[in-house]
Amino acid sequence: MMKYMLKFDDNYSNTRITDLYVQEEERLVQTNAPRIGFEYINLRGYTINPEALGVIPEAKAQALNITAFELNQNKLSVAAKQPNNPLVQAYFQELQKQRYELTVYMCSTASLQYAWSRYSDITDSAAEKKGVFEISVEDIGRLMNEVKQKEDVPRTLRSISTINNTRRISETLELIFAGALALGASDIHIEPEESGIRLRYRFDGVLHDVADLESYIYGRLMSRLKLLSGMVLNAKAEAQDGRFTFDIGTREVEVRSSVIPGAIAESIVMRLLDPSLSTFSMDRIHLNPYIQEVMRRELKKPNGLIITTGPTGSGKTTALYAFLQEVHSEGVKIITIENPVEYKIDGIVQTQIGDDYTFATGLRAILRQDPDIIMIGEIRDREVAETAIHAAQTGHLVFSTLHTNSAVAGFARLIDLGIDPRVMGTSINIIIGQRLVRLLCQDCKVAYEATPEEKRLIEYVMAGHPHPIQIPNPITLYRNGGCEKCGGTGYRGRAGIFEGVLMDDAVEEAVLRDPREHIISEAAKQQGIPTMVEDGIEKVLTGLTSLRELERVIELPYLIAGKPLPTPQTQSAAPKEATDVDFFTHVV
Ligand SMILES: [Zn+2]
Repeated sequence: MMKYMLKFDDNYSNTRITDLYVQEEERLVQTNAPRIGFEYINLRGYTINPEALGVIPEAKAQALNITAFELNQNKLSVAAKQPNNPLVQAYFQELQKQRYELTVYMCSTASLQYAWSRYSDITDSAAEKKGVFEISVEDIGRLMNEVKQKEDVPRTLRSISTINNTRRISETLELIFAGALALGASDIHIEPEESGIRLRYRFDGVLHDVADLESYIYGRLMSRLKLLSGMVLNAKAEAQDGRFTFDIGTREVEVRSSVIPGAIAESIVMRLLDPSLSTFSMDRIHLNPYIQEVMRRELKKPNGLIITTGPTGSGKTTALYAFLQEVHSEGVKIITIENPVEYKIDGIVQTQIGDDYTFATGLRAILRQDPDIIMIGEIRDREVAETAIHAAQTGHLVFSTLHTNSAVAGFARLIDLGIDPRVMGTSINIIIGQRLVRLLCQDCKVAYEATPEEKRLIEYVMAGHPHPIQIPNPITLYRNGGCEKCGGTGYRGRAGIFEGVLMDDAVEEAVLRDPREHIISEAAKQQGIPTMVEDGIEKVLTGLTSLRELERVIELPYLIAGKPLPTPQTQSAAPKEATDVDFFTHVV
């Protein structure tokens, strides 16, 4: 009955006519395709692979009446309404130059429209502006206001999950960035695991689990991030690097992204570089007064090598930037060679290593530019080490880093790299060791009385401190609380803990005789510069950081039951690599 009546409905008639037209075109294409030598395909109802689709920008696809719909390794299936059109052919040749192997089909307008409708899944007009992600300034501002602590991220995510389709991907992305900025994160990690997609932020140097993302948005999120970063969408088995920037109204934030293949799926790490933070000064890295005084003297010297050491993430590059800023003045020519350039400093020529521009070749090129001061990102082979030493001996002040665990270990490392210990006395000025510790949030830190074991540790370390501070009795220490201001972590900001070994007669003699760490340590003692452990314990005693935080970044001379204390002469303070273990689980 209903069926019969509908036959006289206007809308139904129009639909019928459109349907008939569509069917007619479909039939025509199907007949014509083999005649002009192409295989016919009907894409309606076909699962369009978003990564294939993303290969051809939407505007291009519509202008040429083409689409890409399937991608397997580099094999790309494309369809065109007029595959013989010269413009279409020229564009397909361009794709082949990008190493895609094309299979070309012929399809109807309806097929194309169906495929194009899927663009909304992978991109929106903002994201198409490759390299610049126009996050809505209002959105990010609003989302940043909603995030006061890390728990607010999953809460806001839940409200976003009620939004449907493409807006949801954009909002999720905006929240990921807004949350990171609000919490002062330096890195964003998105890691697929068996149980789901983990979102983590690194702030104050430590990775924090922030939220679980829904698995089903992962693919679209990754496609979006790869497009933004200028990466190849389908290269799933290889690591890729990219970058993009977005504007948040008051400033631009630069994002360095890196994708690596994983057991389950690719994971992405995005480092946020906030140019507003790129003002380095020696005051900002919290040098203790002893090493500060030494450094101000060393930085006035016209030549020699100044090296900072530490594991990745210990802030050694930041320290070098601070030193550069200190020596930077009119009439002083400074050239850097870095991997990569992490921050741009006005008035300094900064170069970045690349395929043919290595630390070694770059350094030789730089020396021909007649600089006064050179900064080399890292000394990691003999050639660079030798060139750096040579530069330091020929009237240049040279800054660099070494990947070692302590200042004293730097000497042995250079010898390992093939440097003759006899040239060290005339080329090295100072080797510095450093770590970063998180500072307790001054608004919520919790006072407690040191346990007997903690008290013994503090007294033991302070006994070796060249400028010991008065130890109160009882000792009041602080641990992390948690409040709105610190995102609930109890920590806010970071400071370095430092040590340094100056080259003097005693150290030079030790380097020549026996460059083992404890020998050099002993020779350097009369220089009066505290060790990292001593500097750290001092920062614990003054309530700047907690004992647990110090223990996280450096090995403390713990008093294990049954084991005697090491004698002060061989006191081992071998710092450990910065790790991201949840240090709350191993309570002192
Ligand atoms: Zn707090």
